[in-house]
Amino acid sequence: MPAILSVALPTPLRKHFDYLPPSAGTPQIGCRVQVPFGRQILIGVITGISNIEDRDKSAPSVGQLKPALSLLDEQPLLPQNIMTLCLWAANYYQHALGDIINTALPAGLRAGDPAVLPEETIWSLTTKGLNTQPDTLKRAPKQAATLRQLQSLSAPVTGSITSEATTAIGPDEIATFNIDRKIIKRLEEKQLLTSTTEIPRPNRPELLLNEPRLNLNDEQHTALNAIAFGKFGTHLLYGTTGSGKTEVYMQAIETVLNKGQQALILIPEIGLTPQLLNRFRARFNRPLALHHSGLSDGERKNNWLRAKAGHIDIVIGTRSAVFTPLPNPGIIIIDEEHDISFKQQDSFRYSARDLAAIRAQNLNIPLILGSATPSLESFHNAEQGRYQLLRLHARAGQAQAPNIQVLDIRKEKLNNGISRQAINSIAATLNRSEQALVFINRRGFAPTLMCHDCGWVAQCPHCDARLTVHQYPNHLHCHHCDYQHPLITRCLQCHSKELHCLGQGSVRTEQCLQELFTDTPVIRVDRDSTRRKNAMQDIMDQVNSGKPCILVGTQMLAKGHHFPNVTLVVILDADNGLFSSDFRGPERTGQLLLQVSGRAGRAEKPGHVLIQTHLCDHPLLTTLLENGYSAFMHQILQERQLGQMPPFQYIALLRAEAKFGQHAVDFLQTARQLAEQIQPSTPQLQYLGPLPAPMERRNQRFRFQLQIKAESRGQLHQLLQPLISELDKLPQKNRVRWSVDIDPLDMN
Ligand code: ADP
Ligand code: ZN
Ligand code: ZN
Repeated sequence: MPAILSVALPTPLRKHFDYLPPSAGTPQIGCRVQVPFGRQILIGVITGISNIEDRDKSAPSVGQLKPALSLLDEQPLLPQNIMTLCLWAANYYQHALGDIINTALPAGLRAGDPAVLPEETIWSLTTKGLNTQPDTLKRAPKQAATLRQLQSLSAPVTGSITSEATTAIGPDEIATFNIDRKIIKRLEEKQLLTSTTEIPRPNRPELLLNEPRLNLNDEQHTALNAIAFGKFGTHLLYGTTGSGKTEVYMQAIETVLNKGQQALILIPEIGLTPQLLNRFRARFNRPLALHHSGLSDGERKNNWLRAKAGHIDIVIGTRSAVFTPLPNPGIIIIDEEHDISFKQQDSFRYSARDLAAIRAQNLNIPLILGSATPSLESFHNAEQGRYQLLRLHARAGQAQAPNIQVLDIRKEKLNNGISRQAINSIAATLNRSEQALVFINRRGFAPTLMCHDCGWVAQCPHCDARLTVHQYPNHLHCHHCDYQHPLITRCLQCHSKELHCLGQGSVRTEQCLQELFTDTPVIRVDRDSTRRKNAMQDIMDQVNSGKPCILVGTQMLAKGHHFPNVTLVVILDADNGLFSSDFRGPERTGQLLLQVSGRAGRAEKPGHVLIQTHLCDHPLLTTLLENGYSAFMHQILQERQLGQMPPFQYIALLRAEAKFGQHAVDFLQTARQLAEQIQPSTPQLQYLGPLPAPMERRNQRFRFQLQIKAESRGQLHQLLQPLISELDKLPQKNRVRWSVDIDPLDMN
């Protein structure tokens, strides 16, 4: 019977497009097709196939439809369960399906690359390579180190070293262990390695585990036993850093692997550390693949195809890995579930955590959310019994919880933002040959350049924001639009030369500490100092060598990394977030303080945390430090309930921005009128705005927003669906950039 194909195309339009089938091939849902679109040729995915007879009379007549040019896949590229997830997301987030599919597919496949498993160069150690002592490569220390690494990787689980027992070293291992391909070449020239090209077969030795699992403590045991495999349920694994969450994940994964299923693990954007990966590799004798933005397009495509083909048992990835196709997944785990990087903040504004819950529900498998500082939403869901709360109180192993002390810095004379007591504590730590970590939540040298004579402040010409002073080279930089300007030496208003750098940035803190502790390395960790590839790894190596040092850094230090030798953490400024204009400011501050504190005292040495603040009496801070995180969350929940804010209400944020602010306001005003025609405002459904965004001008555009708040998700969506399709038809929409954000995490 003649058919019509519905195709999702990579456009921002919230609709699908109909085509006649191509001249050759048998189209199926989930296959890619190449189609004419205006004057372009686009690649899209078939989302539906219908009969010509069943066609809606209002749709364009069949005679007007163009045939697709070609079919790119004989078998569906996107399996049914991923298609279902994408469709759910399109509906929930009111976003174009074609764009969502674009997020689900790696770049190469989007561009039309054939979906065939790649051939890869695989190295293995030769007998000579296995038996050569790395130390004999004295003149080539890097080669020696790599050889040692490869030998330890290749060590068979049982029996002696023979050439047959060696493990293949593929692109995965090379990426994971950061092995330099040039060094591989050298070793190959010395005949220590040999290579072949093949479609790598999944390597699944008989033994599942490389190392014995740990004996779980009681709480870990209870947590693991609570997970019902083969059944949907969301479990919130809530335990401080070091309480043994990862061990619980690993043993849950073990159960899943034993059933011949796969595991999907989502981690925050910069939380992926070689440490975590090494632990998984050290434990499981099973193929593992990564998915994150640091990989090349080719690597991502290959990993995706291998996962889909069932060649990968454990997928570890950031946000968009939630779309990784797997033949028979048995569990989804989200580590550091509170992390905001699970929510995409532009274009397709999805929450990978929430999509993971939908995927797990569709697949009828468990979802584990792990955190030392659960998000307010998850905490609330656990309280309401929607999630099962699994609590780990104790620190596993021997590590002790850090002791946290508040430093009242009111009236204190600070040296570049650092109190005398903090400096003394750092000195004492270094004297004990231990390491200190100083946390400062701003990069650059100083956040403000001000004229001492007239009070003029250097502002970004394109944003409502101050310019940050940077060094190397000296310049002013806008962290919101990337505007840069050479450092000025005279005030632009009164021409005075008395320009002062106000406030602290990570570079200034670094310099100050370096001057105070001349003989100790001061290592800065922020976006600027880690831009270079492998920079973070080099820093970690230096820190893990254990020699006394001072780490200075921004949020990057709060995530994922463990610094076993750090015994002192100094938080320079806890006050900023508590005053943030965003209603989530206090929640984030609490999470950040505890996450940073958790970096200390991992090992046998107890950690000590100093928090500098002007607000020692702040009720939330007091609750957090005296009664702990759960009490802190309860207090915030009470405030949110009183203020009718999430998680007690559901929010959609309609944003509009334009060169002329009035255009954005007009658009949102119309939107509000349309919305009120569909559903008048009631106590259960409220409209707020149009209001200026917290940063009204950014990158030369004026930004406004309309907040829609509802008591039930259902009601919000009943409004949004018709509203968005009306907005799509408004001629005014062409004068603005507009978007809708469901469950926004950032109100700016
Ligand atoms: P988290 O993921 O909560 O930060 P980890 O799972 O990384 O905690 O555990 C912290 C440390 O404690 C690790 O070194 C881990 O090997 C160790 N550990 C975890 N569980 C146990 C256990 N049951 N017995 C002994 N050591 C454990
Ligand atoms: Zn001036
Ligand atoms: Zn700017």
